[in-house]
Amino acid sequence: MTSIDDLLRPDLRGRSPYGAPQLDVPVKLNTNENSHPLPDEVAADIEKALASVVRGLNRYPDRDAAGLRADLAAYLGHGLDVSRVWAANGSNEILQQLLQAFGGPGRVALGFTPAYSMHPIIAAATGTRWVDGRREADFDIDPAHAAAQIAEHRPDVVFLCSPNNPTGTALRPDVLAVVLEAAPGLVVVDEAYAEFAREGTKSALTLLPGRERLVVTRTMSKAFAFAGARLGYLAADPAVVDALQLVRLPYHLSALTQAAARAALAHAGVLLSTVDEIKRQRDRMVTALTGLGLPVVPSDANFVLFGGLADSRAVWRSLVDRGVLIRDVGLDGWLRVTAGTAAEVDAFLTAITAVVAALP
Ligand code: PMP
Repeated sequence: MTSIDDLLRPDLRGRSPYGAPQLDVPVKLNTNENSHPLPDEVAADIEKALASVVRGLNRYPDRDAAGLRADLAAYLGHGLDVSRVWAANGSNEILQQLLQAFGGPGRVALGFTPAYSMHPIIAAATGTRWVDGRREADFDIDPAHAAAQIAEHRPDVVFLCSPNNPTGTALRPDVLAVVLEAAPGLVVVDEAYAEFAREGTKSALTLLPGRERLVVTRTMSKAFAFAGARLGYLAADPAVVDALQLVRLPYHLSALTQAAARAALAHAGVLLSTVDEIKRQRDRMVTALTGLGLPVVPSDANFVLFGGLADSRAVWRSLVDRGVLIRDVGLDGWLRVTAGTAAEVDAFLTAITAVVAALP
């Protein structure tokens, strides 16, 4: 009998799906969400916006999501307009559409590992060959080394991630400049965590004018505390946005999603007011973990990667046993923890201090 496994595309056989554990524990600091619930005034306006579209759900939504894209362009600034902004169900869907249009069978995508684990998974799902680009021992990207890897593999799409997940550090501007120069195809800068960057960090948005192969992806899942709504977006040349129309499913963004996101964006200032507090908690974790004698990667994001753990898997387990879920990102000796509320960070720091003290 033919099994489903025999029927599956051969290039997908034996692969593992994305699988951050969703465990029921008191302190969840494993998926870089924003721990702060939506403020009442924002929630009330979103409810009103949703109520106003409910009776019209018999009709398909605006296929182009033009109003939402205009709002996103206004939020981003940099002279962007609706023709240069595209939106989808999370930036994961944006990344998938990019690879559907610019990757695919016979094509190559390259990213510098470790970076966002979904980049290679979406490459696989779209039949795009993935090349694991190399970082230096301290997780930095060396410009000359990056250029050499691009010259060797001639990727159709290069992924950069700034601030990088899971390491947390923003991309050096000289690396982006060299990659833009060396890459023969699209350069996608995944800026899911841009709003958390430290003072002085420049977004790749500033480089967009005149660079039609540069794409910057963003999300409302992190700084905007809107992960459950699923809203990601990109800024790029209008030709890139046009190309994505060939692969996007018609009416991919529901009327509910569009209405909720627009209502949330109208309160951007209030929603983003948690960013400073989250950065304070992040920096508190950096100081405390360093105080425990653990190496910590400098972070521009809402999470911290820390190492020096002989058995990181066992440390992860001990933290779960104490009710604190953080992320094992598959980097031996290292773990990643999201900057949550002050109380969540207290709980994490109490737990990790106890776990480290009990290490052999
Ligand atoms: N890019 C990066 C670097 C991420 O860490 C994440 C979420 N973990 C995403 C994109 C996707 O987020 P979403 O689909 O919620 O926008």
